[in-house]
Amino acid sequence: MHIHEFQELMRRLYLNRDCKRGANGTYEWLTDELKELGDALKANDKKGMEEEFADVMAWLASLANVLKVDLEKVSLEKYDGKCPKCRRAPCECTF
Ligand SMILES: [Zn+2]
Repeated sequence: MHIHEFQELMRRLYLNRDCKRGANGTYEWLTDELKELGDALKANDKKGMEEEFADVMAWLASLANVLKVDLEKVSLEKYDGKCPKCRRAPCECTF
């Protein structure tokens, strides 16, 4: 499954609810899920991390749907096989 197909799945499942909630409300859900991912990371809870990664992806796709952003298109335009800053693969930017 491609990123675009996953975003379409989220659109089919949740677009009506996501649009009613709006961009700001959907963004708040996304940040809650990121916080939960961080909690699972700190607890070294591998199963929990996997579930939170899935939730973060789902809410990110929902937010993109509300804002009519094509996640696959914008991601691959920016990350086109090279680091967007140093234009090398792998990245050679200094920390
Ligand atoms: Zn770089």
